[in-house]
Amino acid sequence: MERIPVSGPWITQKEIDYVADAAANAWYSNANMYNERFENAFADYIGVRYAISLPSCTSAIHLSLLSLEVGPGDEVIVPDLTWIASSAPVSYVGATPVFADVDEKTWCLSADSFEELITPRTKAVIPVDLYGNLPDMDRIREIALRHKIAVIEDAAEAIGSEYKGKKAGSFGDTGVFSFHGSKTMTTGEGGMLVTNNEDIYRRSLFLRDHGRKPGDVMFFNTEVAYKYKMSSMQAALGLAQLERINELVERKRDIFNWYRCELGKFDGITLNNESPDTKNTYWMVTVVFDPKFGLNKEQLMKLLAENYIDSRPFFHPLSSIPAYENTQEAKKAQQRNRISYKISPYGLNLPSGLNVTEEKVKYICNTLKDIVLSV
Ligand SMILES: *Cc1c(COP(=O)(O)O)cnc(C)c1O
Repeated sequence: MERIPVSGPWITQKEIDYVADAAANAWYSNANMYNERFENAFADYIGVRYAISLPSCTSAIHLSLLSLEVGPGDEVIVPDLTWIASSAPVSYVGATPVFADVDEKTWCLSADSFEELITPRTKAVIPVDLYGNLPDMDRIREIALRHKIAVIEDAAEAIGSEYKGKKAGSFGDTGVFSFHGSKTMTTGEGGMLVTNNEDIYRRSLFLRDHGRKPGDVMFFNTEVAYKYKMSSMQAALGLAQLERINELVERKRDIFNWYRCELGKFDGITLNNESPDTKNTYWMVTVVFDPKFGLNKEQLMKLLAENYIDSRPFFHPLSSIPAYENTQEAKKAQQRNRISYKISPYGLNLPSGLNVTEEKVKYICNTLKDIVLSV
């Protein structure tokens, strides 16, 4: 039996045609053609003024922090449960990540925890749209505004998700996306920074091109900066995926519904939440188990793997992983972030690649139920 992968894209002839066209034609005066089309279509889709295509979401967070002038001595609040890419760029700019707790229902940044951790040094907050869900954006934005804290919305996992009818990624001073091969839409590797702020837009364009002024044809750099660009072949792939985004998002929601039919009423298993205010695009179908089953995520992953089912652990609290665990901030978070430490050990991402079938989802759910009922 073939292994069932956790994630993966849905590529059609359209994507192949666009990439081939870029490889053949996106040179000379057309060198930027696909990047421009992709950026314009992306800004339209999210409902923002500006979009900049980048090599990764990590670089989009880095540029966001630089453009917002976050630097040494500043603190940036990030949720404890997320991928390290949300917090690593905080260290790149010499600032300190402060790990906030998550909300028990949404699994995203808790507005209360965010507010409690604000100090005079807090310069920015990075709410993360975890697994396609969104936090209480109204409260987070209100708190940030009141304390003059910049918001970088990490929507890497949430393309197409909505909060009160507005698209994920449109709620911060900047919004950032990832097109890594595991994400809902892909360019292989890639990312996007979106913003409505012209100053941030201009500054990010400057910083991602080795500190060249717009229109500089004399290669006369005015600052030491960075080189963060997406190739036209990647942009062509992204444009083709974006033109199919409704189909991709609907498939993600279908996949979740297949799981919900099988597991939604199973006692002791909690699936991703979707509040009435929110449209969740379920990047990863995720289950959190009642500890009463006597299994943690590592044991469960192993048992699933024996049945040819790949899975991933729910993100570990950042404050618990070796990269951070001995820092002062992590030690405080370990004592404080009750919900993060309660959920994470019992959470698992199940196969939600765009190639998974309803039949396979049934097999996965039956296997899972057999495992938890037999221990
Ligand atoms: C995938 C991901 C990123 C990083 O994306 P890259 O394109 O790999 O840099 C950032 N934040 C979150 C929440 C992610 O899931």
